[in-house]
Order: sequence, then C-alpha cells, then structure tokens
Amino acid sequence: MIQLYQPLNFMGMVYREIKQAIIDIEKMFSVLSRNPEIKDIAGAAPLVVSPGNVRFDDVRFAYDPERPILKGLSFEVPAGKTVAIVGPSGAGKSTISRLLFRLYDVSSGKILIDGQDIRNVTQASLRASIGMVPQDTVLFNDTIRYNIRYGRWDAGDAEVEEAAQLAQIDSFIRNSPKGYETQVGERGLKLSGGEKQRVAIARTVLKAPPILVLDEATSALDSHTEHEIQEALERVSRGRTSLVIAHRLSTIVGADEIIVLDQGRIAERGTHAGLLACGGLYASMWNRQREAEAAREKLAQIDDGN
Ligand code: ATP
Repeated sequence: MIQLYQPLNFMGMVYREIKQAIIDIEKMFSVLSRNPEIKDIAGAAPLVVSPGNVRFDDVRFAYDPERPILKGLSFEVPAGKTVAIVGPSGAGKSTISRLLFRLYDVSSGKILIDGQDIRNVTQASLRASIGMVPQDTVLFNDTIRYNIRYGRWDAGDAEVEEAAQLAQIDSFIRNSPKGYETQVGERGLKLSGGEKQRVAIARTVLKAPPILVLDEATSALDSHTEHEIQEALERVSRGRTSLVIAHRLSTIVGADEIIVLDQGRIAERGTHAGLLACGGLYASMWNRQREAEAAREKLAQIDDGN
C-alpha cells in the first residue's frame, strides 16, 4: 500500500505545482495581453535601447471612439531623466503608461523609443526594456521570495534580498512569520497597497530595465510609507529614463519636468518651482494637497492625544 501511496502522493504534488504554474501564467497573460488586437508586425525587429529616449509625438487615443481620452499629446523623456505626469482624476495619466507598455495602440501619432516606433518592434523586447510599477501589483499565491524573483527568474537569494532592501521592504519581510518564505496572496499574508508597490519596485530592481514607468497608487499613504516609497523610487530611477504617473505631488518635486494633464491635453509644463511660480492648475493642486495633508496630520495628532 505504502509503495502505491508514495508515487500517488508525488503525482498529487506535481499536479498541484502544474496547476499553480498555469494559474500564474494566466495571471501574467491577463496582465500583459489584455488586448488580443495588439500583434507584432511581420518581421518585427527587437527594440534597441540606447541611450533610452522616449517620445510621444502628437498622440491621440480613445478606448471608445466616441470618447477621446488623449487629444494630441507631445512630450519627451530624455534618456536618464525623470518626467512626471500629474493632473485631475480621469485626465488620462494612467492611459499614457498603458500606451507606452503597448497594452493598447495609439489611435494616431507615434510613440518612439530611441527613434523606433513601438508598433514596429517585438512586444517581448519592448516589455523587457520597460520596468512597470503598476498601481495594482499582481501578487501570486506563493512566497514573498517567489513574488520578488518574478522580476528576474535567475536571480539568486542574495540578489532578491538586496532588491528588497533597495525597495525598503526587507525589514517588513524579515518581520513576517516565515521571513522570505512567508506565503502571500489570497491564502496567505495580505499586503497593503504601499507594501505591494514596494514588492513591485523590488521586482523592477531585479529586472534592471533601462526605462521605468511608475504608476503611483491612488490610495493615500501615511507619510512614513510615502517617504519610504519615495526613497526606494529615487534609488531605482537613478540614471534610468523614468516616467512617473503621480497622484501625490510631494513624490515628484525633484522631477526634471512635470507635465500637467487636463482632459487629455497638456495644460502646463515645467519644473516644480516654475509651475508654482505660475500660479496655475499645478499651484492650486499643490496648495490643496498641502492643506489636506496638514488636516490629516492634525487629525492624527488628535488621535494620538486620546
Ligand atoms: P486617476 O488619477 O483617477 O487614476 P487617470 O488620469 O490616470 O485617473 P485614466 O486611468 O488614464 O485616468 O483614465 C482616463 C479615462 O479613460 C477615464 O475617464 C476612464 O474612465 C477611462 N478609461 C480608463 N480605462 C478604460 C477602459 N479600459 N475602457 C474604457 N474607458 C477607460
């Protein structure tokens, strides 16, 4: 009986592992290829990134032809620089990151990386060159180590831990029940939005792409978490071409250029200091956020006092 049980048990284990792998692959594809209409052209060449210049050239886009979202957008992220996109909710900020990752194709205009139209290169090479830190990071039902290693499968344990340190998530992991072997996901430890985003940053550190797209989570973070994320981002974006879709203006004060998007058009652009001096949309968004932060801090002090 035992002789029969062992192979059956082993087969059960293999079956479970295969099933998990299939679930993971499905999740990966649901993230990467939401749109089956996006195909490589015949004879598509691999993208060559050098030095890593990203350019949007009169880009127009609509999910639904009746409702234009981006209405002729032109800007450049020079190699190694950081450009931040800010603007009211629904302005089309995250759409820009989806277009650069080619989850959708532009309706007209072009997106160029070092002069190559992203529609003419293989999707695999495009996505290998871009590190995407999305708003909602998909976590697999596996260990936290596995979830970070997803950035680069051949990374060794020490590299995974180094990436976690850079992303400011290492001490959180070490304090979890089984450290790096802690299970996360639906059946394991649930991570907050800020923790998930730091896992995504750690993955990106491992992937080490020349181009980085960060789509900041909308959820309000406490100022300590926000500071940690900001520091992690500064480290990972150093020397890389970075496009930051920002909801919290405090995270992009140091950006080389800030583009203020309003209803699919560029309303203002410049540095933080320059835009504040203009006293326009950016300045009023900044003042509103400062007031909201001050009110939140006051409330927290009252809570602490009780
Ligand atoms: P937020 O700051 O709230 O994240 P955003 O500026 O990033 O907003 P987008 O996510 O780019 O805005 O969305 C722009 C507009 O496109 C919104 O009105 C949104 O409802 C719409 N939209 C987004 N995704 C889709 C989709 N898959 N299909 C149809 N419409 C969409």
